Amino acid sequence: MTTQNLAASLFRKEVLALSAYKVADAQGLVKLDAMENPYSWPEAIKTEWLACLRDSPINRYPDPEAKQLTATLKQQNQIADDCALLLGNGSDELIQLLLMALPPNASVLAPTPCFVMYKQISDCLGLNYLPVPLLADSFELDLPAMLVAIAEQQPSLIFIAYPNNPSGNLFNEQAIITLLETTKGLVVVDEAYAPFAQASFMDRLAEYPNLLVMRTVSKLGLAGLRLGYLVGHGDIIGQLNKIRLPYNINCLTQLSVGFALSKQGLFDQQTAAICNERQRLFNQMNSFAGIHAYPSAANFILFKTPSGQADQIFELIKQHGVLIKNLNPQGGLLENCLRVTVGTVEENNAFLAALGNALGR
Ligand SMILES: *Cc1c(COP(=O)(O)O)cnc(C)c1O
Repeated sequence: MTTQNLAASLFRKEVLALSAYKVADAQGLVKLDAMENPYSWPEAIKTEWLACLRDSPINRYPDPEAKQLTATLKQQNQIADDCALLLGNGSDELIQLLLMALPPNASVLAPTPCFVMYKQISDCLGLNYLPVPLLADSFELDLPAMLVAIAEQQPSLIFIAYPNNPSGNLFNEQAIITLLETTKGLVVVDEAYAPFAQASFMDRLAEYPNLLVMRTVSKLGLAGLRLGYLVGHGDIIGQLNKIRLPYNINCLTQLSVGFALSKQGLFDQQTAAICNERQRLFNQMNSFAGIHAYPSAANFILFKTPSGQADQIFELIKQHGVLIKNLNPQGGLLENCLRVTVGTVEENNAFLAALGNALGR
């Protein structure tokens, strides 16, 4: 038996049917493809951070409940005392935990296009993933279609990214409330881009017991540390906590995130700079004939190229030394679409020059 046949005979059909999550090689390129914060820390803060790590007991298992970090997160995010928190190795792991807890054949509903891991992990687990297209042009929720899907399929869980990735918009708040009030399942509001948005469902947790709010420190500027958190009712978080691996948040992450969150002022400055640049980039992009940039409440901008030109424009921008994300291959509403992460002033200028060049200007 070949090893290929061995693998095919051993693993579930859902696993065999998956394709791996691919990350583009950014070596030598201005990296504007992954919604990372482009800024590093001042030397003095780096020194202070390293001192805080110096005596970390890496020979010991970390605190399985990350009690200190949990308390810091609660305080910094004004999370009510009666809400429970679940920490994950990135919010990706929390998405996995949520879906692993569902019964076989459960349905999972999400608008499309949205964050790809919802489908990737649902497919891997053999769940019934139900994508409901967003409205063309506005990328707004198609509430009537979502309500039909809820009535017909009774989804156990609904994912709503708020703001949405890859469109960058905040969905209509009242539409999300209607979903919360209609579904008999859970609604996970994924607030990965909360630092850049002036809106949140965090203060509605007491009102809706089926609401879970998910956040991450990745887009804030700590993507390398891998920490996400899920906030919700203790009865729901408590069940999910049973399937969490005991030491999923390593001790360097616990210490480093705790340290970083004590420097909130630094992140506030960086976030403000990113939001200013988002506005400038948006205006400049829309001044190019043939380009339509969509308004964004996140740290990236989705834009549409002239019909049939997205792949070529993406490649030309890359040849000019700037890596962004080509969404055109995903098709549907993302046909002709590219996405750029907001970087530093210099990085954004490099992107604008590359875009202008690709458009033949
Ligand atoms: C980036 C992103 C995540 C993943 O965050 P990690 O904490 O880095 O795993 C989750 N949801 C959305 C909508 C994202 O864009």
